[in-house]
Amino acid sequence: MSKSIIRVESLHKSYVTGSNSLHVLKGINLDIQQGEMVSIMGSSGSGKSTLLNILGILDNYDAGGYYLDGIHIQKMSETRAAQYRNKYIGFVFQSFNLISFKNAMENVALPLYYQGIRRKKRNQIALEYLDRLGLKDWAEHLPSELSGGQKQRVAIARALISKPKIILADEPTGALDSQTSLEVMEILKDVNNTGISIIIVTHENDIAERTQRIIRLKDGIIETDKKNGNAKKQITESVIIP
Ligand code: ADP
Ligand code: MG
Repeated sequence: MSKSIIRVESLHKSYVTGSNSLHVLKGINLDIQQGEMVSIMGSSGSGKSTLLNILGILDNYDAGGYYLDGIHIQKMSETRAAQYRNKYIGFVFQSFNLISFKNAMENVALPLYYQGIRRKKRNQIALEYLDRLGLKDWAEHLPSELSGGQKQRVAIARALISKPKIILADEPTGALDSQTSLEVMEILKDVNNTGISIIIVTHENDIAERTQRIIRLKDGIIETDKKNGNAKKQITESVIIP
């Protein structure tokens, strides 16, 4: 049997603002194996981002349990949370979240800065990752000089540079046209082929159809959790990571 990289048990989360409380997650149970490529669907406001933020240790939960690679993730210091994020997780967002005044190479290198790696070394490694994503010639360009698809490839390179076990992607194709969206999905599949687990939040069916498993959230619980026979596992060698 393969290993659970993510295990969630009876997870609850409410947002409290003033005297109002909004119960968003009402008992989520989830088990994701190392190497799976999963999509999370559900209508706007169904709690997809809330769940992803908890999985990424960007937010706390109220009740239940979250185990990341068998480690019980509970309320912890920001330093500790950052250590686990660095070790396990790469993030990809709809809005790319690149730093506008840093070029592509510097954006990709940023996680290595936080690991205390010196500038020359981290830029060299960043160039290697940009090269793998077909963006070597764009290393010196600012995000404003890149297309949406190129920006998302830079963001994926940045997510990969700390060698995560999991990529969490919140609507990664939400700001892209359909052709570019499919290209980004091919890259993510390629990343998945290297053994990295990928969880993609999306409300687009044709994106979810490209993942091996589709989870639907509704009214705070998992409504369905199905293997997707349409998504064939790629048999080609990865070009992203040798
Ligand atoms: P989705 O990503 O599926 O669109 P979210 O997880 O972002 O949904 O939000 C779920 C619900 O929680 C929504 O009703 C949203 O308005 C609310 N919500 C999200 N974040 C916060 C917050 N920080 N404070 C209060 N309410 C929030
Ligand atoms: Mg969302």
